[in-house]
Amino acid sequence: MTTAPNERQLGVLTYHTVEPHFDLGITWVTPRQFRQHVELLAQSGFRGVGIGELLHLEGETKAIALTFDDAYQSVYEWAFPCLSEAGWTATVFPIVEYVGRDNRWDGNLFGRRLAHMDWSELRELVDSGWEIGSHGLTHSYLDWLDANRLRRELRGSKAALEDRLGIEVRTFCAPYGRASPRVLSEAFEAGYRAVCLLQGGSAGVAHRLDAGWVVQRWAIYRLDSARGVLARLTGGRRRRAWLWIQRIVSAANFGGVLVQCGREKGLAILSGFAKIGRGAAG
Ligand SMILES: [Zn+2]
Repeated sequence: MTTAPNERQLGVLTYHTVEPHFDLGITWVTPRQFRQHVELLAQSGFRGVGIGELLHLEGETKAIALTFDDAYQSVYEWAFPCLSEAGWTATVFPIVEYVGRDNRWDGNLFGRRLAHMDWSELRELVDSGWEIGSHGLTHSYLDWLDANRLRRELRGSKAALEDRLGIEVRTFCAPYGRASPRVLSEAFEAGYRAVCLLQGGSAGVAHRLDAGWVVQRWAIYRLDSARGVLARLTGGRRRRAWLWIQRIVSAANFGGVLVQCGREKGLAILSGFAKIGRGAAG
C-alpha cells in the first residue's frame, strides 16, 4: 500500500466494552475473545502502547495502540488485567460528566445500563502507564454544537481530566467517531495533538496536519475472531472487506446520533412549554 508524505500506516484498534454478559449490540467483545485477540497479536510480534507513544515511534512497525472509547468499567475489570499480563499499555477515553456513572447518555433502545470507570479506577490506569484521552464532557455530536458549547466540550473535558488525574491530555476521541474540519481545528486550538476518529471510509491511517494528527482507527466488533483482528493489521485483500463492514456499521451507528439529538431537542421543547406554562400561571 502506498503512503502519502503526510500519512502513516498505523495499527489502532477501537474497543468499547469487554463484557461477559450478552448484549444485543455489536461493539462489545467477551473477555475470552479479548484475551484471544491479545494472545494472537502478541504471538505475531505486536505490542500494545498508548496512542501518543505510537505517534512518536517513527519507523517501528510492530507497535499498535488499543483504544477503549467511553471508559466502561468492564475495561478496567477485564481488559486491564489481561493487558497488564502481556506487559502492554493502552488508551482509554472517558466521558468526563459520566465518570463513575452509568451510560445514561446513550440512546440505548434496549434499556441496558453499563457502568463507566470512576476516578480511582482511571487513576490506577494512569499509574500503570495507560494514556487517558478525552471523549468530551457529555458524548454530544460535536459538529452540531454552537461555538461556545463546542469549546466547552473540548477544553472543559481536557482541563477536568488534567486536574483530577494530574496528567497532560493530548489526545481527543470524537464522539461517534466523526469530526468536521471545524471540530478538528477547534480541537487542535484547544491543545490536543491528535484526534481519533472511526469513519468507515478509511482505517489504519494517520494523517499529519500542520496542527496535529488525525488518526483513523479500526473498529473491533463482537463477531471478530483473533484472525480477523490480525488481518486488519497485516493487510491483504481482507482488509478491504473489513473497511466495507466498518463503513456500513459506521453509517448505521449514525442513528445513535439522531436518537440522542432528538431526545435533547425533545427535552428542550418540553422545558420551553413548561416555562411558557409557568409564565401563564404566574
Ligand atoms: Zn463514544
